[in-house]
Amino acid sequence: MEEKRIFKFNKKTINKNQKYVLYWIQNSLRLKYNYALKFAIEKANILKKPILVYFVLKEFPLGNLRQYEFLRQGILEFKNHLENLGANFLVEKGDFDLVLKKAQNACLVICDCGYLKKQRFWREKIAASLQTAFYEIESDVLIPLKLVSSKKVTYAFQIRKKVFDLLATFVKDFYIPEIKNKQKILEQSISEIDNLFNSLKIDKKVKPTIFIGGESQARKKLLSFIEKKLRFYKDYRNNPAKDYQSNLSPYLHFGFISDIEIVKLVLDRFSIKNENVKSFLNELLVWRILARIFVLYEKNYKSWRCLPEWAVQTLDLHSRDRREYLYDLDTLEKGQTHDPYWNAAQKEMVLTGKMHNYMRMYWAKKVIEWTSDWRKAFKWLIYLNDKYELDGRDPNGYLGIAWSFGKFDRPWFERPIFGKIRYLSGKSLEKKFDMLPYLNKFKDS
Ligand SMILES: Cc1cc2nc3c(=O)[nH]c(=O)nc-3n(C[C@H](O)[C@H](O)[C@H](O)COP(=O)(O)OP(=O)(O)OC[C@H]3O[C@@H](n4cnc5c(N)ncnc54)[C@H](O)[C@@H]3O)c2cc1C
Repeated sequence: MEEKRIFKFNKKTINKNQKYVLYWIQNSLRLKYNYALKFAIEKANILKKPILVYFVLKEFPLGNLRQYEFLRQGILEFKNHLENLGANFLVEKGDFDLVLKKAQNACLVICDCGYLKKQRFWREKIAASLQTAFYEIESDVLIPLKLVSSKKVTYAFQIRKKVFDLLATFVKDFYIPEIKNKQKILEQSISEIDNLFNSLKIDKKVKPTIFIGGESQARKKLLSFIEKKLRFYKDYRNNPAKDYQSNLSPYLHFGFISDIEIVKLVLDRFSIKNENVKSFLNELLVWRILARIFVLYEKNYKSWRCLPEWAVQTLDLHSRDRREYLYDLDTLEKGQTHDPYWNAAQKEMVLTGKMHNYMRMYWAKKVIEWTSDWRKAFKWLIYLNDKYELDGRDPNGYLGIAWSFGKFDRPWFERPIFGKIRYLSGKSLEKKFDMLPYLNKFKDS
């Protein structure tokens, strides 16, 4: 077990007289490269106890059928894997203080890692009340975050070298030890889990899409990406008319795949010196880790207050500039602006649950341009992103939206409305790409 992935949350000791080892799973719903599960099994084997993997199903703000169906599919696959291994798995609906109840019979409690404010809040709250040892295991990112930075970071380049230097230390083969005590301590059928999902009070109007949740689907996407797309990534990734991204973000967000497995399989096939590989790892590792550093150390990550001073100043200075078009949230949400590219991007997100990366930048920039108050634009973007994207409510999304307002970017030439914030126009889209295939795919239906 890699020591650097283990964080002990409290000073309590392991209680050998209890019934099981409890793994409260939240962020790593997979078998492969799940270091929290591995740690839990190692502890259970030493203690000769069975293991209980426990998932709390909670309604989150803006949560909808699309996101919960994706989650349900992944959970059912994970349940199957766990039961084949000889671990117990239980899903219960409620709030995370349910973990404390389950912990009453636990020798120790283990959880995986999450960096959003609420995830930190619950880990700390549970740690403060637990009467037994509580460990958090870094399984969200390849390199444990604190080794990259223990404070706020202003630009991606500040961590890039460190991430690439540390990479080789953390890319390893992975195996799950055999579980010694396979005692069944509870039984939960698939239909019981389905009933829990069906009873959620969520928005059922946002429908599931072509993306199917789960670890095997994630791996299939990864293998196809490595085989067919990675060698063209650098040149084609940004082209909305071509599908040369990995499409792994929903799977990474739900923890169905680990970035470690992705890096391992990529480097098994290609050299790290390959320009496409470098470009891909820059997104997967540098920007994804930066997003986690951002939400961990910046408490206002969901608000305009996280922006650098120059960005706030320049946006304020231009807040009264004449805007040719102004839209309300409803018109934006329905994708009914005058701009076919923007409408297509909005439709792509609403219909498929995943907007193309380059269009996300264009999409956000245009909302700044068309909203009377740029602070309101910030709020609306978070709302739309978190509601429709399958990878929404992720540190990457909060970073992406803040970036669109100048965070982690530098001042550019001054222009109306945007001031010194980087600008993107429909004309530049047309100049760079043949946009027709993208428009045809998502034109008004
Ligand atoms: C306004 C805006 C909103 C965004 N919202 C989200 C979001 O809600 N969730 C989300 O995961 N990403 C978001 N992004 C970042 C990026 O657009 C997506 O991660 C990417 O498009 C996902 O597609 P992919 O997995 O095919 O990417 P690939 O190009 O195949 O990249 C592989 C992985 O690298 C990571 N990655 C790629 N680009 C970035 C980036 N710019 N910042 C951080 N990590 C990155 C992702 O985990 C991604 O899955 C947003 C970007 C912007 C500008």
